[in-house]
Amino acid sequence: MPLRVEPIRAFNDNYIWCIHNGAEAVVVDPGSAKDTLNYLEDNALKLIAILVTHHHPDHIGGLKQLKQRFECDIYGFEHAKYQPIDVRLADTQKISLLGTHFQVIHVPGHTLDHIAFYSQNDGEHAEPWLFSGDTLFSGGCGRLFEGSAEQMHTSLSKLGALPDTCQIYCAHEYTLSNLAFACAFNPNNQDLQTYLDACRVLRSNDLPTLPSTVGNELKINPFLRIDDPDIINALALTDQLPVNDQSNAVMTFAHLRKAKDNF
Ligand code: ZN
Ligand code: FE
Repeated sequence: MPLRVEPIRAFNDNYIWCIHNGAEAVVVDPGSAKDTLNYLEDNALKLIAILVTHHHPDHIGGLKQLKQRFECDIYGFEHAKYQPIDVRLADTQKISLLGTHFQVIHVPGHTLDHIAFYSQNDGEHAEPWLFSGDTLFSGGCGRLFEGSAEQMHTSLSKLGALPDTCQIYCAHEYTLSNLAFACAFNPNNQDLQTYLDACRVLRSNDLPTLPSTVGNELKINPFLRIDDPDIINALALTDQLPVNDQSNAVMTFAHLRKAKDNF
C-alpha cells in the first residue's frame, strides 16, 4: 500500500499529520496524545516515529505519553530544548522512515528551533510532501516569536523554492483568516479570489483546506509575493510601508508581517 497522509484534528485548529502504510505510522507534531492515540487505535496503526517541528506546547504536548505507549523514536532539531528527543537532526540531514526519505530544512523565524520535513516523491508516494509546522501556512506564515523578519523571509524563500507540485501539510487550519488578510493587501489577485471561494466551500462542509501546494502558495500567499506591486501599493496606501523600504524585500516582509499582526 502506498503511503497516505491523514489529518488528526486537535485543539481548536491544529492538525497532527499521520503518515502511514496501513500498518505503521509516523505522526508530525502530536500536541495531544489523546487525539493521536484514538486515531491510531481506530485505524489499527502502530506508531513507529514522531517528527517534531518546534517546541510550542500544541506541537509537543503528547510526546511523553506517546513515547510511553509505543517504542517510537522522537526526531527533533539538534539545538531544541524540549524533552524527550531521541534523534537530533541538523539542517539538510536526511532520515528514512516507512520506506521513504525526509529531509530536514531549518526554518527559523516563528521559533529558532523550527524545522520542516521535506519528502521527495518516490516509489512510496507520487507527489513531494512538506510538513511545514507553523512556518508556512496556506495564505500566511507563522508569527515571529523568536526569529527576525530576515530569518523568516529566508526560511520562506527556501520553502517557496520547492517543486510546484509539493503538497504542503501545515499545522493549523488558519486558511480563511489568512486569506481575509491576503485579500485586503493583494486586492487585484484573481487567483486569490478563486482560491478563497474554494476554501469557503471546504470549510462550510467542515473539511480541511489542506494540503495546499507550493505552486498554489506562490500564486496566493502574500508572504511569498512581497515583490508584487499590488501588495507594496496596498501597504504604502495604508501607511504601513515607508517609501525608503519599498525596494527592500526584507523590510517589505517585516512591514507585511506587522500589518498581519495588527489586522
Ligand atoms: Zn507554534
Ligand atoms: Fe502551533
